[in-house]
This record gives sequence, C-alpha cells and structure tokens, in this order.
Amino acid sequence: KSFESLGLSGSILEALNEIGLDSPSEIQAKAIEGILRGGPKMDALGQNGILLASQTGSGKTLAYLLPIVQQIKQWEEYEGRSKPKRPRCIVVAPTQELVEQIHSVAKTIGHVVKFSSSMASARAKIGQQKKALERPTDVLVGTPNRILRLNREGHAWFGDCAFLVLDECDLLLGEDYVGEVSKIVQPVVTKERRAKVVMVTASATKRVRTYLREDLGGGI
Ligand code: AMP
Repeated sequence: KSFESLGLSGSILEALNEIGLDSPSEIQAKAIEGILRGGPKMDALGQNGILLASQTGSGKTLAYLLPIVQQIKQWEEYEGRSKPKRPRCIVVAPTQELVEQIHSVAKTIGHVVKFSSSMASARAKIGQQKKALERPTDVLVGTPNRILRLNREGHAWFGDCAFLVLDECDLLLGEDYVGEVSKIVQPVVTKERRAKVVMVTASATKRVRTYLREDLGGGI
C-alpha cells in the first residue's frame, strides 16, 4: 500500500514527502483508512471508539494525526462564518516527554498542512501556554492535569472537540490518571456531541478493551 492509495490529500502527501517517508507502516495503513472512513462502526449510535494497538515505534503518532488533521482541514473548507471554537482535536498523553514528542510531530506536519498545534504540559510555563491558546489551535496535546487546568481557567474549550486521542491509554486508564481522563472524556463524548475517541496503546489490556466496549461502546 502507498500513502496515496489510503486517500490522503495533496498537502499531507507533500508533508510526508518532506519528512522523507515513502510507505505507510501496517498500523498506519489500517488506521488512516479506518479513521477517514469513520470506521465500520464508528458512526453507529453509541459507537465512538477506535483502538490502535501495535508496538512502540510502529508509527502510531502519524497513524492517528494524519487522518484526523485531514478531516479537520476538510471541515474547515466547508465552515463559513459559524466557525467552531478550537481545539477540534485533543491528544492526551500520560507523560511530558510523550506530549513533547507528539507535539513536535504535529508541528512538523502542521507547517506544510497548515494547522496549529499547542502543548499543555507542566514543563512549560502556564502563562506561555495560555498565550499560545489565544490563537486558534486545531490540535491540543497535553497531560490530563494540564489540559484540565487550562480548561478550568478558560483557555481550552472542550465543546467543539471532534477527536479525542488517548495515547498510551493503558496508562491513562490506570489509577493515577483515570479520574482526570474521565473529566476530559465526559464532556466530549455526550449524546448530543460525540467526539470520536482514538485509543492508542502498545498493550491492549483487558481494561482498555472493556473501556472501549462498555464506556465508549465501539471499536474496530
Ligand atoms: P511512533 O511509533 O509514532 O513513535 O514512531 C516511531 C518512529 O517511526 C518515528 O521516528 C517516526 O518518524 C518513524 N515513522 C513513522 N512512520 C513511518 C513510516 N511510514 N516509515 C518509516 N518510518 C516511520
């Protein structure tokens, strides 16, 4: 399979070319088609989740970022004056290192594809992050704690979030984070306004599968 055959747009193909990637990894081929199509079950009532399970280093970051960004850009083209508030995608990760890695990948493709990404991590100053969020942010990448703080203080709006990514979701559903993670999931996965939730993990534990099936009700 080639990136072209997966249905990616011209500017995304250009970004991939610039990074120097020629062919998708296995998880990328699956996820890109799955997320662009909505997944076989993702649009059915109560079925909001998709699971990307594959080992570390298999290219999972681009596997979810590329199709999500493509959809966000396509919506933007149809949005007139009733532009929704940002962010349209929230990526939650358990550690600052991972947040920085994801943000750096998002920034690299964002330069070519023209979308903006902001970081919510305790390593950077909160004031700087608030300032960055005054400009429209398409993708917000952060740790649960910092995302919630920015939301509480009025700088990160959850209401128009269309994609929620839980990266290393096995850890995010563990006891250290699950309380905070639920506070992000609940407002974005409601009956009226259902974000698609992409759960990413190298270890699809029983807990992860149960969450996907019972709490989110979906999965491909
Ligand atoms: P990740 O699993 O997302 O942390 O990515 C691991 C590494 O694989 C990163 O350095 C990526 O730049 C690289 N990578 C991602 N996709 C591909 C691909 N299709 N071909 C070759 N390398 C890739």
